[in-house]
Amino acid sequence: MATCYLGLGSNVGNKKKNILLAVKYLQKSKGIKVEKVSRLYESSPCGCPAGSPDFLNGAAKIRTSLAPLALLKELKNIERCLGRKKAKRFFPRPIDIDILFYANKKVNLPNLKIPHPRLKMRDFVLTPLKEISPGIIKKIASEVKTIKDIPSMRAFLAHARKNMSIGFVPTMGYLHDGHISLIRQAKKENDVCVVSVFVNPLQFGPKEDFKKYPRDLERDSIKAQSAGCDVIFVPEERQMYPDSYCTYVNVDKLTGTLCGASRPGHFKGVATVVCKLFNIIQPDVAYFGQKDYQQALVIKAMAKDLNMPLKISIMPTVREADGLAMSSRNSYLNLSERAEAAVLYQSLQQARKNIFSGEKSSKAIIGDIRKAILKKKSAKIDYIAVADADTLESRDSVHGKALIALAAWFGKTRLIDNILL
Ligand code: AMP
Repeated sequence: MATCYLGLGSNVGNKKKNILLAVKYLQKSKGIKVEKVSRLYESSPCGCPAGSPDFLNGAAKIRTSLAPLALLKELKNIERCLGRKKAKRFFPRPIDIDILFYANKKVNLPNLKIPHPRLKMRDFVLTPLKEISPGIIKKIASEVKTIKDIPSMRAFLAHARKNMSIGFVPTMGYLHDGHISLIRQAKKENDVCVVSVFVNPLQFGPKEDFKKYPRDLERDSIKAQSAGCDVIFVPEERQMYPDSYCTYVNVDKLTGTLCGASRPGHFKGVATVVCKLFNIIQPDVAYFGQKDYQQALVIKAMAKDLNMPLKISIMPTVREADGLAMSSRNSYLNLSERAEAAVLYQSLQQARKNIFSGEKSSKAIIGDIRKAILKKKSAKIDYIAVADADTLESRDSVHGKALIALAAWFGKTRLIDNILL
């Protein structure tokens, strides 16, 4: 008998009933014994056509005497019994049963790949799988090299540096598809891809969310490796900032407006940690997201002013289906706040349209965005600004290369977004 893990999903009809029925069919199947079934989790459809309904997902641990292809045939039978017709890959379906793992077997056939090739990218698989088998998640997470101290990180890269290029993605972890796009690009353009995960205490104000910032290193390791990361650097706070620590990097321009005005000391913390990480990793290229546009400009200025021999690459903002910029902080939002937060990008998009139709007054543009956001019950505005995209100085009218940037609270969660014109 082999131990197998299955992924279960449904997004048509009575989703819960479909999955519970699938489990019942599994229990009745000859050669299959169901040992554990996870709770069921809601997830937004990934890769499906726009407007597809949400999914309900779970995972099951089974023991089976069926060989992998015979098991696949049995699972297809169950899917058919539950009304699944042959459909294109990402189309809605009443039931989807995937083989995630089959003992320690690797299968690479046109119609069956085990372990499931996309499981590492999918929260809706990792979450229920972790619930029924924390050990498996630990094992997958350990497949990517993780380094926790600075001397070992330097030693590991000293070798690589001789004849390979190093791409670097600094993050605070709790990785989402925005981070993943940076990691993919770093691996595409370089021989070695390093991702750091460090929740930097220096960039949080005393009343900010440092303590409750979401952390899940196992999940980060799995996601980073699925995107091509070769090594994860997770420095300990004591090593980054020992008691004797007394050196800070201040970028004088660019940091007094927008988020810099609302979060005093934030960019000093960001520039300091990124400078330290650049010194430790010494990358050829470092990747940042446009979502944190001001941060990217501050880092560019620091690298230029301090003669750091690397390129800074800024990648586009990755968004949820409704336009909300992906952010680790989105996990703080409750359902109604999450729905309301989509207004940020929608109002920026409306501003873009109005500008192309001839509106040039910053006051009018900001006024319209303000009105749209304040229609949402949980929203409070921190700032909305029209600025020069290079200097970040405020502008009375939109001309040349301009930035519209904003920050707003939804309940207790502060979110940011921006567009470039
Ligand atoms: P963080 O972990 O929030 O510090 O972000 C690490 C890096 O990922 C920064 O360069 C961010 O700008 C970038 N990033 C965060 N969210 C997104 C997103 N939605 N799209 C693209 N890049 C992002």
